[in-house]
Amino acid sequence: METKNAWLKYDEKKRKEIFSFSEQYRQFLSQCKTERECAAEAVAQAEAHGYRNLMDVVAKKEKLVPGDKVYAVCMDKTIALFYLGTEPMEQGMNILGAHIDSPRLDLKQNPLYEDTELAMMDTHYYGGVKKYQWVALPLAMHGVVVKKDGSKIAISIGEDAGDPVFGVSDLLIHLSADQLEKKGKIVIEGEDLNLNVGSIPSKEEKEPVKKAVLSILKEKYDFEEEDFRSAEIEIVPAGAARDYGFDRSMIMGYGHDDRVCAYPSLQAMFRLETPKRTAVCLLVDKEEIGSVGATGMQSRFFENMVAEVLQAMGEYSEIAVRRTLQHSKMLSSDVSAAFDPNYPSVMEKNNAAYLGHGLCFNKYTGARGKSGSNDANPEYLAQLRRILDENQVSWQTCELGKVDQGGGGTIAYIMANYGMEVVDSGVAVHNMHAPWEIISKVDMYEALLGYVAFLENA
Ligand code: MN
Ligand code: MN
Repeated sequence: METKNAWLKYDEKKRKEIFSFSEQYRQFLSQCKTERECAAEAVAQAEAHGYRNLMDVVAKKEKLVPGDKVYAVCMDKTIALFYLGTEPMEQGMNILGAHIDSPRLDLKQNPLYEDTELAMMDTHYYGGVKKYQWVALPLAMHGVVVKKDGSKIAISIGEDAGDPVFGVSDLLIHLSADQLEKKGKIVIEGEDLNLNVGSIPSKEEKEPVKKAVLSILKEKYDFEEEDFRSAEIEIVPAGAARDYGFDRSMIMGYGHDDRVCAYPSLQAMFRLETPKRTAVCLLVDKEEIGSVGATGMQSRFFENMVAEVLQAMGEYSEIAVRRTLQHSKMLSSDVSAAFDPNYPSVMEKNNAAYLGHGLCFNKYTGARGKSGSNDANPEYLAQLRRILDENQVSWQTCELGKVDQGGGGTIAYIMANYGMEVVDSGVAVHNMHAPWEIISKVDMYEALLGYVAFLENA
């Protein structure tokens, strides 16, 4: 069974539309490099589209009715949007889920030190990274510092053309005889991922360069060394996402995993008229480290917000919450691996995703014997096939590489615990988890069309 290249469906006019949607995404991806930045932008866009903060609705004891649009945020890092449908909530919701955290280097709690008159910062990588990919490239610093009085300082350094950047050094080829004999996994090790952040000494006797850096931080951002203890600072590739290829058909950027699914999911919500079934977009944190914590998918946050919505509609009961969740349907969207002609040996060609062939569906993910995966039901897949085909959405089925090569996890199995229908879907990428990942513009556009069709028809 072969799938067709989705570009072939479109004439010049339609291609312009795909390029202009992709340009909005490219700008989003360039500006939103942390879960907090993504959540804040999602809130701003939701409010511009008439969504109200669910907590305000609750505080004012307002009643929610079909057609209302609300959003809820968990600790600035996870967001759920609800567009209330005309059918009772208990009949289930149609949910789009994706994650907004991405692999990166996080600053340690006590990061700053001086070594041989260089100011350095210690990092602890977040998520699955090939450590050797994170050296010798410009890095930016994004995050928040929270002072003891609760005031919060937002940090974003390295994105504007005039900003300084930071970096982890690599060893010169001339002295790499030993290093190049090492296995890839340990060419660069976790404790070697130290940032160089300054080199001009102050007049101080002890740690003069570190102290000079601290005085810059004090002057520019008004925080002290001890404030790092309550900071969340993420080191990410510096600079904007770029068009990729002579034909500009692709985008190279940091964090397509999983913002390339999060962005069209969010935009699909904004393209809806009042739906029959309540439409939901859920953008979560912590997927890359196992969906743990209050802001990860395993948290009760989403379930609690469903209860709040039902309460505000005057329909709350314990059984109503359970029925609403159990009768829901979900597209759990995450990136998939696109077939790469540079690395054909890890893929099985008949069950691989291809760039440009549309929205991906993984019946199951997992590794070696489907371990840890949500294995979607064929009854549900049959319904989705019908919806996608009736709406002329290009889509493909795929596995994440050969059976015994590896694999990966998503948030799908967690939502499936409620007894709802869930399938893994998403957009295929090259360079997954590298500092700069690649996606095809037409695939993201097909995802948008597929998500709208799902929300309206599932
Ligand atoms: Mn992912
Ligand atoms: Mn990932």
